[in-house]
Amino acid sequence: LLVPDFPTIAYIRGDGVGEDIFPEAKRVFDSAVEKAFGGNKKIDWLRLLAGEEAFKFKENYLPDETINSISEYLLAIKGPLMTPVGESFRSINVTLRQKLDLYACVRPVEYFEGIESPMKAPEKVDMTIFRENTEDIYAGVEFATGSSEAHQLIDFLEQTLKVTAIRFPKTSAIGVKPVSIEGTKRLVESAFDYALKNGKKRLTIVHKGNIMKFTEGGFRKWAYEVAEQYPSFTKLIYDKIKKEKGKKKAEEEKAAAMQAGKIYVDDVIADNFLQQIILNPQNFEVIATLNLNGDYISDALAAQVGGIGIAPGANINYKTGHAIFEATHGTAPDIAGLNQANPSSLILSGVMMFDYLGWHEVAQTIRKALFYAFKAKECTRDLGGSLSTSEFADILIKYIKEA
Ligand code: NAD
Repeated sequence: LLVPDFPTIAYIRGDGVGEDIFPEAKRVFDSAVEKAFGGNKKIDWLRLLAGEEAFKFKENYLPDETINSISEYLLAIKGPLMTPVGESFRSINVTLRQKLDLYACVRPVEYFEGIESPMKAPEKVDMTIFRENTEDIYAGVEFATGSSEAHQLIDFLEQTLKVTAIRFPKTSAIGVKPVSIEGTKRLVESAFDYALKNGKKRLTIVHKGNIMKFTEGGFRKWAYEVAEQYPSFTKLIYDKIKKEKGKKKAEEEKAAAMQAGKIYVDDVIADNFLQQIILNPQNFEVIATLNLNGDYISDALAAQVGGIGIAPGANINYKTGHAIFEATHGTAPDIAGLNQANPSSLILSGVMMFDYLGWHEVAQTIRKALFYAFKAKECTRDLGGSLSTSEFADILIKYIKEA
């Protein structure tokens, strides 16, 4: 990215706790930029409306101006948005991702010392999930039970699949799960690019190809095809050598490939993966997976390092450069307006944004401040501390100034 010294960054404050955490996170961002550049570089913040606020002023949860501005300025950072119930579109978040074709959902999962974790050795958890963000059941094509579309599909399927004697009860609701070659390949390429850029040694494809042969099985096949374009050593090659020349030779060749800086690529079935990340989290570094698997995996992994209050995320189209960085939790209506919410998820999403901008010194300053705060057990209630949202931001700013 070619970044001007005063880049315009669009932001959406968000609903519910968005109003508690956004102003505080923004104070932290501005203070870290000031610390790193002393006024020579600065963010020109552009406030955009979405969610309840947008509905109040524009009678539209996601006004066109908001999408057009993000489209023009490339980057945005946002708090959580409520999902309107019974509206024509399912979710503001999903709509934003689809309109801007933000095909990669990137979720780093990293443990900070001092944070309580249900894991015995949480320091072993250090993974980045690349979740495909536009396809799979999130394409949003479903037909309700009793609808004429569902009936037509049931008739068609019964006739087509007669031989296998599969029967669809007439009351079936039907969902469509598209998974394409190009959709899979662009996601897996971004996971490889990330792995190479960040010196990662292992990339794991997570899928349910044993059950869904063409969709999830296709994802696995196309992901391995992408691996052929990168400096990699795949489990497919390993297995082939093992079969032809024995395990010892396969291990030797794998070790030589790793020594030469290649990435080891394997695949794991999603249910086994959810078991493995608890038993052997140290075995995984970069994960490439489909939309629904990625949804489950992201929350499961977030829980290992302190929960959704601390897990950051970004939705990126690496081809156009468009990116939205966001708190991964929801609007937390139970604590909204109480100055209690943890702003760390949004702040760490900001860290990802500064890295994306190439402002690594800003990102590092904020990460260090979080590191010192958590180590000293200075944190909000959800992490076992007693600080309010604004007190926590004050502490971070203190560490940033002292750095
Ligand atoms: P939620 O994440 O809002 O809340 C779940 C629990 O986590 C609550 O107990 C809440 O208090 C707690 N929590 C969440 N964020 C916290 C924080 N920063 N600090 C401390 N505690 C925090 O999930 P929900 O209740 O299922 O959803 C509420 C609304 O948010 C719904 O409308 C949902 O659709 C929406 N949502 C939005 C996003 C998003 O914008 N990315 C993500 C998930 C849910």
